[in-house]
Amino acid sequence: MISAPLRLRLDGDALVHNWRWLKGMGGSAACGAAVKADGYGLGAREVVMRLAAAGCRDFFVATWAEAEALMPLGEALSLSVLHGVRAADMAVAVAHPARPVLNSREQVLRWREAAGARPCDVMVDTGMNRLGVSPDEVRDGLLDGLAIETLMSHLACGDEDHPMNPLQRDRLQALAGRTSARRMSLANSAGICLGRDYAFDLTRPGLALYGGVPRAEAAEHIRQVVFPEAEVLQVRTVKAGETVGYNATWRAERDTRVAILNIGYADGYARAFSNAGTAERGRFPLIGRVSMDLVAVDVSTGDCGESGWIEIDYNLPEVSAAGVSAYEALTRLDGRFTRYWR
Ligand SMILES: *Cc1c(COP(=O)(O)O)cnc(C)c1O
Repeated sequence: MISAPLRLRLDGDALVHNWRWLKGMGGSAACGAAVKADGYGLGAREVVMRLAAAGCRDFFVATWAEAEALMPLGEALSLSVLHGVRAADMAVAVAHPARPVLNSREQVLRWREAAGARPCDVMVDTGMNRLGVSPDEVRDGLLDGLAIETLMSHLACGDEDHPMNPLQRDRLQALAGRTSARRMSLANSAGICLGRDYAFDLTRPGLALYGGVPRAEAAEHIRQVVFPEAEVLQVRTVKAGETVGYNATWRAERDTRVAILNIGYADGYARAFSNAGTAERGRFPLIGRVSMDLVAVDVSTGDCGESGWIEIDYNLPEVSAAGVSAYEALTRLDGRFTRYWR
């Protein structure tokens, strides 16, 4: 096996801790997990296994390819495909253990015709204008005859205090009892923090499971899960007055010990961290530009040698303060990382 100079340490205890906190916030509602985009970059299969062991039963992916990658799914687990069924999905979907989340009149008709009595979920658009059938279509009977497991909607502004939040909640609530749905669901990570009246029967956190802090209320409860670590390829002394990296954006004020690390923007480490990121919990500032596959850090304050490993600071609230969305920061970390859980 070829040894990779870049790895992602994943904290399984922190993942489960975050799920338990989110579940508690939802009161008696069940708490699921969004594992689309390969578990926000952590590896969906590992995330599902760990959360299922903690008691999580309901999982959400975006596409049938993502659903297929999770097969075989444990007996007691439920998997929903958020993008529903395109015509091209039908052959797979009608025979699949996962359920589609039907999003449009076209999808509803397609499903009813081909799979009638098989269980499905339905997304109602309560104001985001992304995916979903309208509340009027629901009232007019569009969903009659479907075996709906979960009737859901999605908040547009859950991470803000915005009048859309209570409006969307009330629009969903108004559909209670109007369909065959066994459960209703609205809240993502941010929505869970808005209070129990947003939890309905089932919540669907993603970001906060993986260490993102969607609202200030969650800040002291959510633990970091993802820790990128890069190998030191070289250590050098940069003489006072010399510069480091492309475009010479950093200049040494004094002789400086500098480590060159195996991570760059092609790995998903944003270029916005140029002269701004840090490593080893703030001890080593990043100096100069982020290159495609390399960065430089000032290691004057610590001992650091070639072939050592350095933890890149990736606390998501700090990352988003630096101007990189926590969602992007997670999902862009790519396949060059070797993942390991501890
Ligand atoms: C991605 C997604 C979620 C999870 O959202 P987070 O903000 O990551 O918690 C929940 N519901 C739907 C429909 C989604 O697309």
